[in-house]
Amino acid sequence: MENIFALKAYQDNYIWVLPTAEGKRAYVVDPGEADPVRAGLKAAGLDLAGILVTHHHGDHVNGIKELVADNPVPVIGPVDERLAALITRQVRDGDVVELDGLPVPLQVLEIPGHTSSHIAFYGGGALFCGDTLFAGGCGRIFEGTPEQMYNSLQRLASLPGDTRVYCAHEYTESNLRFALQVEPDNQALRERLAKVSAQRARDEITLPSTLAEELATNPFLRADQRSVIESAERHAGRPLSSPAEVFAAVRAWKDAA
Ligand code: ZN
Ligand code: FE
Repeated sequence: MENIFALKAYQDNYIWVLPTAEGKRAYVVDPGEADPVRAGLKAAGLDLAGILVTHHHGDHVNGIKELVADNPVPVIGPVDERLAALITRQVRDGDVVELDGLPVPLQVLEIPGHTSSHIAFYGGGALFCGDTLFAGGCGRIFEGTPEQMYNSLQRLASLPGDTRVYCAHEYTESNLRFALQVEPDNQALRERLAKVSAQRARDEITLPSTLAEELATNPFLRADQRSVIESAERHAGRPLSSPAEVFAAVRAWKDAA
């Protein structure tokens, strides 16, 4: 899938736009606001074809009602009571979603942790992972256990290294600053932070990243690495016996940071 682009919403949300092959329509992911979608699609000469939803948080769904009032398009999202009134097609883990006009089908992955019903869409080398995996970080654990979040991130981490990561917030720079506290000697991380800081100074988007970049620099995908284990144990003040425990300790560290 080429020519995917982002629309900005709220302070730091991105609404991803997936134009169809014929270039006249587009699907949007997590429209937290309607106005940026209306304006962005109009400017690009695109009509709304449908809406994809990763999870129920307001900054990802608040625009849906207005958008479907304009144009009653399909709304595809997870099975969740809190979304039932908005979703026209509920999808589950393993479902393959064929969207009219898109060149490739999208696979649905259930990735609980940030919320209990969070899903990702994956296809054509692109991963739309909402608030689960961020560039340089991961989402807060609001409804799941650290173990669940760890397993969800591991699932994403097992996708091919050249997978493009389209997450839903511009948090990359602050995430990488924290990551550097965890791994001060990670040279790839230092270089990435320098690149991202320069991009942010020019007010440029830092996404998508690739999974390979995340595996090299994101501490939440590196809970099996010596450097991360040692750092997490030092911070927690106790030995940690599994990657999931290391992950949980790093998440707790960042929550308190
Ligand atoms: Zn969220
Ligand atoms: Fe969010």
